Amino acid sequence: MTDETAAVAPTWAGAEVPEPFARFVERVNEIDDIGRSLSVLGWDREVNTPPGGVEARVTQMVTLGSFLHRMATSDEFGEALEGAASAIVGLDMPEAHALVRVVRREFEQQRAIGTELERRISEVSGRAHTVWIGAREADDFQAFRPWLEQIVELGREIADRLGFGSEPYDALLDRFEIGATTDWVAGILDRSKAALVPLREAIEDRVEGGHVSIDDSVLHRDFPVEAQKVFARYLAEAVGYDLDRGHIGTAVHPFATSFGQGDCRITTRWYPDYLNASVFGTLHECGHAMYEQGTDARFARTPLAGGTSSGIHESQSRMIENIVGRSLGFWRAHYPALVEAFPTSLGDVPLEDFHRAINAVKPSLIRVEADELTYNLHIVLRFELERALVRGDLAVADLPTAWNDGMRDLLGITPPTDREGVLQDVHWTAPMFGYFPTYALGNLYAAQLHEAACASDPAISEGLSAGRVAPLLAWLRENVHRPGASLTPAELIARATGSALDPEAFTRYATEKFTAVYGLNR
Ligand code: ZN
Repeated sequence: MTDETAAVAPTWAGAEVPEPFARFVERVNEIDDIGRSLSVLGWDREVNTPPGGVEARVTQMVTLGSFLHRMATSDEFGEALEGAASAIVGLDMPEAHALVRVVRREFEQQRAIGTELERRISEVSGRAHTVWIGAREADDFQAFRPWLEQIVELGREIADRLGFGSEPYDALLDRFEIGATTDWVAGILDRSKAALVPLREAIEDRVEGGHVSIDDSVLHRDFPVEAQKVFARYLAEAVGYDLDRGHIGTAVHPFATSFGQGDCRITTRWYPDYLNASVFGTLHECGHAMYEQGTDARFARTPLAGGTSSGIHESQSRMIENIVGRSLGFWRAHYPALVEAFPTSLGDVPLEDFHRAINAVKPSLIRVEADELTYNLHIVLRFELERALVRGDLAVADLPTAWNDGMRDLLGITPPTDREGVLQDVHWTAPMFGYFPTYALGNLYAAQLHEAACASDPAISEGLSAGRVAPLLAWLRENVHRPGASLTPAELIARATGSALDPEAFTRYATEKFTAVYGLNR
């Protein structure tokens, strides 16, 4: 080896790294490039592909996906990973250790599940999805039942392969929220439920007693789609979504996707007679995309450049959609622009009435239509049921009854049909058990992060009450976005807020907000 080659030490994330680690990063970069390319194909399928092109596109994605899977689970990659891990033992390089931890976790999970089970999961899920569409349309749970039984079986098989602590659901949950256990989530959601159900009942008493009524019909007036598209860009800029590194497209089921820190896209849907889908859908997806835009540029082309968990990701979307986007302060600043965009529909609606309309609490049968207060109760129901299914405490045949009983207890209403009940969500057409709770965790994390941010600097709440999101965003960039996946969700929350996740922050937030909206203290 000559002196010249020895002088050029490889670097990563701004620091010199040992040779084996640098070789590992090269493999990680290739895998990341292919994964993001696959995401581009997926985005294009949802947003641009004509019906005639869907089949070919799916084939292309399957081919590229299995190529990626082989690469990411190969012995060769495993050796590179372990070589890198040994080369950094004892070195003070927290980010390098984080990269090894994140990649190893994914590698071990994929190897444990294995290609044969992976193939069965996608076959059964694909067919279950088709059956579910028909069953939901026909309101026929019996048609879907045998498929759901297979899905539950697959969920148990995944848990067995991954290994778990006290119950199989632990393994499934941990796939989406690293480090979360079933008991921990149950404890958090029980405390949240104990506070939210009485609050919901107090609001209903006040409405039934005729003391307050909120008219949200103004949101169902005429809203021309072209004007909604223009306003979505205005909103995106108002909350700090960087459109030079972003893009707003149209999709039936809105989502955010990222092809790198410089290209984080969102999609929205537009209804000419309902404003909320585009306004709050846009704000929600902006929150996801802003998280991705804010991760440390040094982590580019690695899995550290992205959210650390589904729950933390959801905290960012819920923060922008609800805590910022349904606040009086935000609309005090931006309502005039909305009225200007839709003068005939909103010209006669005062700001306060609009603010109450977008915060109306109304127990709904459908989760995706739920208001901010009752949303988590829909998640509590799904968490309790899927935990019981996976444990074997609840048979799939008894699920519709258990669903309806739970709806009555939590929301005070009973679905008249399974279509509006147990058949409503797409999630159970695949063994995605453990994903639902991350929606609720997201709301709870969001409230705690917001509280910590406001406590750290009065400029943040002053900004928000005048519709300025920038001070909050600066705090989120530093405490949530920049670390990407280099911190676990528990580390991130502890560092940013000084304590572990505590559902009381959301209870305080919701109590204060809805007490004001519904005049509960009067
Ligand atoms: Zn989301």
